[in-house]
Amino acid sequence: MRKQFAVIGLGRFGGSICQSLRKQGMEVLAIDTNEDKVNKFANVVTHAVVADSTDENTLKSLGIRNFDHVIVAIGDNIQSSILTTLLLVEEGVKHITVKAQNDYHEKVLNKIGAHRVVHPERDMGVRIAHNIVSKNVLDYLELSDEYSIVELMAGTSVSGKSLIELNVRAKYGCNIMAVKRGDEINVSPSANESLQIGDVLIVIGADKDLTRLEHALF
Ligand code: ADP
Repeated sequence: MRKQFAVIGLGRFGGSICQSLRKQGMEVLAIDTNEDKVNKFANVVTHAVVADSTDENTLKSLGIRNFDHVIVAIGDNIQSSILTTLLLVEEGVKHITVKAQNDYHEKVLNKIGAHRVVHPERDMGVRIAHNIVSKNVLDYLELSDEYSIVELMAGTSVSGKSLIELNVRAKYGCNIMAVKRGDEINVSPSANESLQIGDVLIVIGADKDLTRLEHALF
C-alpha cells in the first residue's frame, strides 16, 4: 500500500513538501487554517482540508493517527506548532517531523517527542556558505556536529590523478564514496582510474578533515 502523509501548514516549506511527496507518488492530506492556501493545493494533493491542527477533536476526526508520517510545517506561530506536535504525540502518530524556527523551538519539540526536527533555513544557510567559500564545494550535508558529506568538483589540481595518487584516506582521513561524471554515478570508483575536470567526488569525513582536504585540493 502507498504511504500516507499529512502535511500541516501550507507555507513555502509545507507546500514544497506536498509537491515533492506527490511527485513521488505518495498519498498526501494537506491541512491549513487558511482557505486560500487549501484551495491552491487542492489539485496538487490527494485531499486538502481547512482545519485548525491545534484542535484535538479536529485531528481525531481526520484520523490523524492512521497516517504513516505527519509533517508539521507551521512557520511563525511557534505556539501552534508546539501544541500541534504535542497532540500528534498524544495520538500516537508513528513518525512526526516538525520544522523549527529557532534553537529554543527545536529544544521544546525534541522534549515533547517530535521524532525529527528540521531547520531548513539554518541548514540551507550552512550549505550555501560552504559553497560560497569554495566554488568547488557543490553541496554539503551535515551528518552530526562533527561529520559531514560534501560534493567536491574536480579542478585542475586533481584532474589526471587517480584515487590512489590522491590517497585522501591516509592523508586526510576522509573516504571518497562515489564519483559522479555527467549523469553517471559510480558508487565503487576504481582506485586506478584518472579523474577528469568536472567530476564530482562525494566525500565523507570529519568536518576538520574535510576542510583540510578542501583547502589542499579543491
Ligand atoms: P513558511 O515559512 O514555510 O512559508 P508560513 O509561516 O508562511 O511558513 O506558513 C505556515 C502555514 O501554516 C500558513 O499557511 C498558516 O495558515 C498555517 N497554519 C498556522 N497555524 C495553523 C494551524 N493551527 N493549523 C493549520 N495550519 C496552520
